Amino acid sequence: MAHTRVRFAPSPTGPLHIGGLRTALYNYLFARQTGGTFILRIEDTDQTRYVPGAEQYILESLAWAGIQPDEGPRAGGDYAPYRQSERKHIYRKYAEQLIASGHAYYAFDTPQELEARREQARQAGNHNFKYDSSVRLEMRNSLTLPAEEVARLIESGAPYVVRLKVPRGEMITFRDRIRGEVQFHSEELDDKVLLKSDGMPTYHLANVVDDYLMKITHVIRGEEWLPSTGHHVLLYRAFGWTLHMPEFAHLPLILKPNGKGKLSKRDGVRLGIPVFPLAWQGDTPEDSFAGFREFGFLPEAVVNFLAFLGWNPGTDQEVFTLDELCRAFSLDKVSKGGARFDFDKARWFNQQHILRMDSRELARRVRPWIEKYGPQPDEDYLVAFCELMKERVTLLPDFWTEGYYFFVPVQQYDEAAIKKRWKPERRPAMEGLVAALENLTDWTAEAIGQTIKQYLTDHGLKFGDVLPFVRLALAGTMKGPGVNEMIALLGKETTLQRLRAGLDLFDRLVTASVESAD
Ligand code: GLU
Repeated sequence: MAHTRVRFAPSPTGPLHIGGLRTALYNYLFARQTGGTFILRIEDTDQTRYVPGAEQYILESLAWAGIQPDEGPRAGGDYAPYRQSERKHIYRKYAEQLIASGHAYYAFDTPQELEARREQARQAGNHNFKYDSSVRLEMRNSLTLPAEEVARLIESGAPYVVRLKVPRGEMITFRDRIRGEVQFHSEELDDKVLLKSDGMPTYHLANVVDDYLMKITHVIRGEEWLPSTGHHVLLYRAFGWTLHMPEFAHLPLILKPNGKGKLSKRDGVRLGIPVFPLAWQGDTPEDSFAGFREFGFLPEAVVNFLAFLGWNPGTDQEVFTLDELCRAFSLDKVSKGGARFDFDKARWFNQQHILRMDSRELARRVRPWIEKYGPQPDEDYLVAFCELMKERVTLLPDFWTEGYYFFVPVQQYDEAAIKKRWKPERRPAMEGLVAALENLTDWTAEAIGQTIKQYLTDHGLKFGDVLPFVRLALAGTMKGPGVNEMIALLGKETTLQRLRAGLDLFDRLVTASVESAD
């Protein structure tokens, strides 16, 4: 088989939707797996929809997800430039080639004339007027006007577009890698504009010409492009490039969490969930969104989650690294039906990736989420903290909310728990424990555990008599990691200081509540 070349071809019309990132991912996985090349091509020929910053956003999203293009605007490559606006000069020649071979024509119909024609169709009950083979001979174009008139109009600078002359009565059949055989009847297809009056190509022309010139072997893209593929196949035929036609694979839609309809950015706002990889700052607050990154997702987890939106390996394994996905992925296991966006599942993947991540690496990812609040922890301390907390968190900000007390004093005590459990008679037992810990020199979780156990046995106490208070004094809450590990990490000084301060606080709280009850 020829060397595989696939492309991700986004239009910079806004932030990259999570579905776009999935398309990029599937292309990337397919390229890696087949030892091929993954190309990024920016399709920015539609000036009216161009959004500044969107290309930068796309590049950053791919970099964040770890799906780096082998060729593209930044990476360069033998087929540069990879931005269609820098390839403008290429497309006209191809449009003219199609006119010369009788597969396309000039159309001079003005917007007013087209509107009048549309109105006429509406009056006749047709609300879906199409410029196609059934009407083109009634329109003002190079098929109906005498050659001299066409030449004169062009000479005089009259605005025109170039349209594809869709043949009549043909079946257009192609095999989609995911959907099997797909057929269009040429009568269903309109005479698509290929070159616009501003001289810019439309998506259809630029896309096909570039796929051909860049030697693309497989077109893997979203299902919304399936209806355009009939036109694309016709273009390959018209150019005489059928032997170079790529294999098509149209990916299933990503559906709303309730499974009803396509996931939209409005669903993100409505449900308070991210539908973009990174934050996007639009012109208005309504057009600004947090992304998976800002919610505290690891890119590894997002990639894993996205891989499963429309694909599964056919085994029980769910947690995959990007490398593992490259090996396991197969276009043949991509489903036809829409894939439901399940945010809880995304959170689950994040939890799994946090759990599996090497603690030193995890510490690197967690650091900004801690430093945001001021502390600048020592590296080894942060690694030990991550090791201790990773079983207890889902998203990266949870490291702070669940474990801030490892960096700053306790800010909130679970007063209800204290009032319910604390009795001033317990104080001597607690003070004895503080003293036992004070004598300990080997400050490891193991030695701490033994010291506590020994102390309890010696004094005929149960774990429940003291440990809840140790937790409450050290962390303000009954939740958290194992108490021995907690004490070890906090260090001797902080532990003893918090235990002593805790006892005073407990007494105060309980006395205060007794007084207020009086
Ligand atoms: N520029 C199109 C988009 O924005 C590309 C579709 C395709 O991959 O052919 O998605």
